[in-house]
Amino acid sequence: MTWNVVGHAWAIRALQRDLALGRPAHAYLFAGPAGIGKRTLALAFAQALNCAAPPAPGEACGACRPCRQIAARTHPDLFVLLPQEPGKPIKVEAAREMMHMLALSPLELQWRVGLLANFDQATSSTANALLKTLEEPPASVILLLTAESAETLLPTIVSRCRVITLRTLPRPEVEAALTDRWHVPPDRAKLLAHLSGGRLGWALREVEEQGASQARRDTLDAWRSVFTSSRAKRFEQVARLTKEGDEEQALRRTLEMWQSLTHDLLLAGIDSQAPLTNLDFADEIRALAASIPAAPARRWLAALQRVERGLERNLNLRLALEAALLEAPSL
Ligand SMILES: [Zn+2]
Repeated sequence: MTWNVVGHAWAIRALQRDLALGRPAHAYLFAGPAGIGKRTLALAFAQALNCAAPPAPGEACGACRPCRQIAARTHPDLFVLLPQEPGKPIKVEAAREMMHMLALSPLELQWRVGLLANFDQATSSTANALLKTLEEPPASVILLLTAESAETLLPTIVSRCRVITLRTLPRPEVEAALTDRWHVPPDRAKLLAHLSGGRLGWALREVEEQGASQARRDTLDAWRSVFTSSRAKRFEQVARLTKEGDEEQALRRTLEMWQSLTHDLLLAGIDSQAPLTNLDFADEIRALAASIPAAPARRWLAALQRVERGLERNLNLRLALEAALLEAPSL
């Protein structure tokens, strides 16, 4: 068993049996609570269906082009439909478009795969858009649906799907996966495994968000340190930013957040009750606003906006940033 999936061994075996028999169902419904691994398993199944170099029947190499493109969701014969916002249903027009695309003949893969996530939130018109494909499935099409439970879906949909209901993983398995595969520190892995209730995807999302909030904290600290830095220190900071900034995306994100923080600083300076965007740092921003008047905050914001516009026009970034940082208020 070489699927790149933690746990759910029985489900993988069941799916591999379908593959071994050479006649997978036309549609599968992966059911189970949020963060349990439905989508991960569905994509692994899509890989096993289409791997160009399976190490054994029903397995996926994970390295061939179809495997990589499916993992990255960039394969031309893989269609993935997620809700645009969490908790919102997928759009009926998008589902119709997908059914239309699936009906065309495959470009490359043996199987065209359509993955529709969170189908329990789909409206009845979306479900109806799917029914025709489910009733008369094109020969090379496989639909993969995910939902928290089969009960909330239309029976006409469920009856046409092979239902794979996933169970939560044992806590030690979640903990081991977190430490071994995702290098989460043992203490944290233990806590997350406990809180996850056996849902690895949930635990991983927590890890990701924790990482994001630390990155935000670092960006806030860098932004704040400008105000107390000497001229020379500010130039050093520019050098640091533009050095890391050979990754332009990272620098853009930093600039974006600095602008947002500075905008909040300006707002808080004008009205201490003003609603702020960066809620997680509201206390820090209000404290700073007490000693930075609106006028210099506004100049600093304008300077940051100029840097961003310069970035678009490929101006000398380092010079632009130096000029901007000299405009920053001093404490
Ligand atoms: Zn492969």
